[in-house]
Amino acid sequence: MRIGLTGGIGSGKSTVAGLLRDLGAHVIDTDAIAHGLTAPGGAAIEAIRRQFGDGMIDARGAMDRARMREQVFADPAARQRLEAILHPMIGAQTEAAARAAPAGALLVFDVPLLVESGRWLDRVDRVLVVDCPVETQVRRVMQRNGWDEAAVRRVIDQQARREQRLAVAHDVIFNDARTLDTLRDEVHALWRRWQAAGATDGTVG
Ligand code: ATP
Repeated sequence: MRIGLTGGIGSGKSTVAGLLRDLGAHVIDTDAIAHGLTAPGGAAIEAIRRQFGDGMIDARGAMDRARMREQVFADPAARQRLEAILHPMIGAQTEAAARAAPAGALLVFDVPLLVESGRWLDRVDRVLVVDCPVETQVRRVMQRNGWDEAAVRRVIDQQARREQRLAVAHDVIFNDARTLDTLRDEVHALWRRWQAAGATDGTVG
C-alpha cells in the first residue's frame, strides 16, 4: 500500500512521518531526494547549470537555493524549466527507493507539494493530509525557522489552499494540538484503522 503524505508548511508532516516510521512504515522523503539532487555533485546540477548558467551554482557546486527561489518566484517559466529537470529525477529516485523497501512494508511518500504537482495522485493508493489552521502554521514556522510573519504567509500563499488538499484526502489528521502526545494518539488511531482495513501488518507499540 502506498500512502501520499502531504500538508502545508508547518502543518506537521515531518512529525507525522516520524510517528508513522516508529510504527513500522517505510517513509520516503521526497524533499530530501530533491535536496540531494541539487547538492554538490547532485544529479541535477549539470542540467541546472546548462539551463540557468553558472551563476545559479554556488562555490561548493550546489544549486544556489536562495537565488533560484527568487528567480522562480518572479518567473513562472523559470519554475517550469526547473521542474522539468527535477520532477522526472525525483520520480525515478522515489521509485528506486520504493523498490528498495522491505517487501510488504507500508510505503509513505512524504510529498509537501502533492496537490500542487498533480502527478502524485496517480502514484499513491491513498492521500493522508495533515491539516491545521493557517494561524497555527504561521505560529509554528515563525518559531521553528525564526522567520517573520510576512515571510511565512508568502510561502503559504504560494501553496495549495487547505480546501484543495482536503478535497483529495482519504485520511485527514487535524493537527492543531500544541502537544505531541495528542498528535501521537491520532496517528496511532489512524494506524489501527489502516490495520483493520488490511493496509499494514504492523502493530501499534
Ligand atoms: P515543512 O513543510 O516546513 O517541512 P512540516 O509540515 O513537516 O513543515 P513539522 O516540521 O513536522 O511540519 O512541524 C512544524 C513545527 O511544529 C515543528 O517544530 C514541530 O515540532 C512543531 N509541531 C508540529 N505538530 C506539533 C504538535 N502537535 N505539538 C507540538 N509541536 C508541533
